[in-house]
Amino acid sequence: MLTSKTSHTARIITFFFTIGFICIAYANPIANPRADEIYKLFDSGHFVSNEDNRKLLDEYKATLSADDIVRQKIYIRLNCWSLPTDTSEQIKAAVGYADEYLQIYSQPTPSLISVDLQYCKVWYLHIQGKNDHIFTDLDSAIKSAYQLEDLRLIADGRSIRGSILSYLGNFSAALEDLITAQNLYESLNLSYWANVNLGEIASSYRRFGDAETALKYQTKLEKNYLKHQQFYEANQTNSQIALSLEKLERYEEAIQRNKKTRDFWLTQNELVAAANTSVNIAGNLIRLNRLNEANTILQTTKHLITPDNDGSYSYMNLFLAEIHFKQGHYNQAIIDITRAEKSFNANNNIRGLNQTLQLKSKIYQALQQWQQAYETLESFVESHMSQDKKVFSERNSEMQIRFDTNKIQTENKLLIQRNDDKKQQLEILQRNKDMQIVIIILVAIILIIVSIFAYKQLIRKQLFKRLALTDELTKLANRRDTYSQGNHFLKAAQLSGKPFSIISFDADHFKLVNDNLGHDMGDKVLVKLASMTASMMRETDVVGRVGGEEFLILLPNIDKTKAIEIANRLVDTIDKYDWAQISPNLHQTVSAGVASYSNEEDLSPLLLKADKALYSAKAAGRNCVKAE
Ligand code: GH3
Ligand code: MG
Ligand code: MG
Repeated sequence: MLTSKTSHTARIITFFFTIGFICIAYANPIANPRADEIYKLFDSGHFVSNEDNRKLLDEYKATLSADDIVRQKIYIRLNCWSLPTDTSEQIKAAVGYADEYLQIYSQPTPSLISVDLQYCKVWYLHIQGKNDHIFTDLDSAIKSAYQLEDLRLIADGRSIRGSILSYLGNFSAALEDLITAQNLYESLNLSYWANVNLGEIASSYRRFGDAETALKYQTKLEKNYLKHQQFYEANQTNSQIALSLEKLERYEEAIQRNKKTRDFWLTQNELVAAANTSVNIAGNLIRLNRLNEANTILQTTKHLITPDNDGSYSYMNLFLAEIHFKQGHYNQAIIDITRAEKSFNANNNIRGLNQTLQLKSKIYQALQQWQQAYETLESFVESHMSQDKKVFSERNSEMQIRFDTNKIQTENKLLIQRNDDKKQQLEILQRNKDMQIVIIILVAIILIIVSIFAYKQLIRKQLFKRLALTDELTKLANRRDTYSQGNHFLKAAQLSGKPFSIISFDADHFKLVNDNLGHDMGDKVLVKLASMTASMMRETDVVGRVGGEEFLILLPNIDKTKAIEIANRLVDTIDKYDWAQISPNLHQTVSAGVASYSNEEDLSPLLLKADKALYSAKAAGRNCVKAE
């Protein structure tokens, strides 16, 4: 019994623990290890190839359930950054994509997704060459990232802004952004992005004119990438190294570097990127005065470089103009240089424009078009002076930045500390949430166990009560219960004025049954008498065994006449019963006395009346009914 009870309780506890763990599992985000694995690849900057990246993203999307809102948003963000940008249509479509989801996720602000989409959109606008209005959006997105206190987003935003500023020649602001981003990436252990950002810092130094410093960073970076077999990034760095070498007038080395980059792009089947590199090679060859080689390269790659490809297109035309000028083809040189000027102007590339104007003036001189030559020279001087001024002020502010680096580091440290605190708080909150669920479940289990015990106790109490009121042999009400119910009926009759009768009956010569057939047979007769009587009475009547072979029937709402009738029917039925079924020579009869309520105070006088009547019936020869 104990074991069965224990195992029952154990089962209940196991059941509730199972429910509990389901609840905890449900309270936590939906598990999707494959999607998380893919996300990790993207987040760590792992690059396979454009095609494989697409496949991975499609797989990511396919694993998501409709209610996995968190990862649906991540997908949109990853997808935005992975859109193709080979043609101007594709870049336009990418801006459209970012715009579409920016509208969908415009509320609540700020949010991770809206900040990241804003970055993504700005980046594509930058690639499109639309640098004019992007800073308002970019600045507000970075501000939101600070509000969200999301270090990764802050780092991304400042790295992106730094790159764009550097591209546009605003080196002091660019370096401030890039150094901040660098510190953040390093403290977040995002080594891939730290390297990308370091590359931008190096490029900024190169653009700034400090090619020596740039080369130092770039060589270190290339080593990092090669060590981790990140060949794509190593290649990007290699092309940056080529630019620094060019700046240092180490043209031969620059050409070798560029050739390596071009080979890489060709193995990747990236023909446009390879063509861009060819333009750089041509530039270096011109510096070495190897004009024919430069011309051959440009003529063979010309068809791959469209005006959309703004940087390369501008320089390609500048180089063609230089070759044609040096070869004495001045008219062709004017056509080329005009294209270059237009393109540099459109891109706001002052450095390129200066070179262009200088050459243009020389071509006009060669053509002996003095007026144009003079005007062009004048615009060159103007543009050059403004650039010099800018570079000068940049140099001053660069000193400032180097000085401010400590300040940036302290600010970043504070940010990181706050981020760690926030993380810890979130962990505590989550732990509390889990604890709450466990506590609720435990309380529920305890309540259920207590209820089960209480219920069992109740059932047992009822059983004891029934046992105390029931006659063991016949299962009829025992003497105590019969009298108690009799009193109850009597009270009801007193109150309602309705009739109430009782029948007292006793087995005739029962002693003989015991004597002749044995006590067990006597018991069987008693049980039979009880069941016959009970089956003849109404649901509301009570049949009780009040003595050895004496019974009492309580008949509420029954008057004397009706009670006599019932008693006669009972005596008759018992007399006519085929007692031989129980024992061959057995024939059992009963005698009955009927009494009805007539102003008795309590049950005793009424019982007395019934007993007197029963005595009369016995005296009258038994197997009959008498009433008092
Ligand atoms: P009368 O017709 O006058 O009632 O005669 P009687 O023999 O029935 O009356 P008496 O009071 O002399 O005998 C009653 C017998 O009932 C005596 C007793 O052994 C028997 N008896 C009482 N209770 C039980 C019981 O629970 N089981 C059995 N087998 N016999 C019982
Ligand atoms: Mg008897
Ligand atoms: Mg008797």
